[in-house]
Amino acid sequence: FSSSQSGKDEYVEYLFRVHTEYRNCLRKNSEVVQYFFDRGFNDREIEEYEFGYCPGGSKIAYEVASKLSLKFSKAIRYGLMRKVESGYVDTFENRIIIPIKDDFGRIVAFGGRTVSNREPKYLNSPETPYFSKRSVLFMFDKAKKAIKGVDFVVVTEGYFDAIAFHRIGVTNAVATLGTSLSEIHLMKLKPLTKNIILCFDSDDAGKRATMSTLKIFLENDFDVAIAQFKEKDPDEVLRKSGADMLKDTLKKALPFEEYIVEFYSKQFELSTTSGTERFLMQLRPWTRLMLSLKKIERYENLLRIISSKTRLSTAQLSEYFKSKAI
Ligand code: ATP
Ligand code: MN
Ligand code: MN
Ligand code: MN
Repeated sequence: FSSSQSGKDEYVEYLFRVHTEYRNCLRKNSEVVQYFFDRGFNDREIEEYEFGYCPGGSKIAYEVASKLSLKFSKAIRYGLMRKVESGYVDTFENRIIIPIKDDFGRIVAFGGRTVSNREPKYLNSPETPYFSKRSVLFMFDKAKKAIKGVDFVVVTEGYFDAIAFHRIGVTNAVATLGTSLSEIHLMKLKPLTKNIILCFDSDDAGKRATMSTLKIFLENDFDVAIAQFKEKDPDEVLRKSGADMLKDTLKKALPFEEYIVEFYSKQFELSTTSGTERFLMQLRPWTRLMLSLKKIERYENLLRIISSKTRLSTAQLSEYFKSKAI
């Protein structure tokens, strides 16, 4: 199961053919079309984003493999079908299909979302030599020109969040595939822009992912701002509050230094000495990281922001952060 150009061609051809069938299945299923209407999509958008549907009990992946004379063992490893007693069945049965493409617009994986609240909510294609979550950014093929043009990228957590931005004309948006942003993702973005607006979900998991992602931005010299919204994610902002509000969240995104100070200041009582101490303790690793990376301007900016939140001068703060003792 090694990776080669002809191997990838075969893989991509197979996924493309299966996807074509899934798109037809969606067009024929009015209930599933209604699911998309309920999420705010119209017929044209269903076509534009190439959504599909894999019906329950179907064996489309098997049939296409037969037609292409693709070995069934391979088709199984590609993750589109699995063996059952009666033969083969589609892995993605009863799920809507979201095509995941490589940088050149070739389908390399599927995201499959349940339409019946079955767990897991999302099922993705498995890792293959031709698809790795760590190196693919959803919608990157469509977004790369715009990212370079406007010199920033919007990074979201979910498929429907990146799509929400595209729907309102913010076409420089991409999504990670449920994992955090990797260094490989950043290498992909680096030639296009160093400016990122992070739009991860506003729930605890999203906040945790935001905090852990900030470190690699700093290490890789990216300028990041973090969008904040009261709904769960950008897709819900669009549906509940509208396009203008979603665009507004980008305009009001907080620069990294302001964000981390806000983040920790909410957790502690800054009117007390002990609260302030614990607040500073949380910020300490960030200041140390900036110093060790020689980001002096950022460090000084961070001190100014902390100073404005506390009654401590930047000189006092600097003394505290540079001291070895904790
Ligand atoms: P929706 O809006 O359709 O309800 P979501 O995108 O808001 O879904 P989240 O639960 O916030 O869903 O997950 C964010 C992203 O993480 C998904 O879009 C998907 O890419 C990925 N993801 C979520 N659950 C899984 C899972 N069980 N396996 C793999 N990836 C997942
Ligand atoms: Mn989430
Ligand atoms: Mn979400
Ligand atoms: Mn969502």
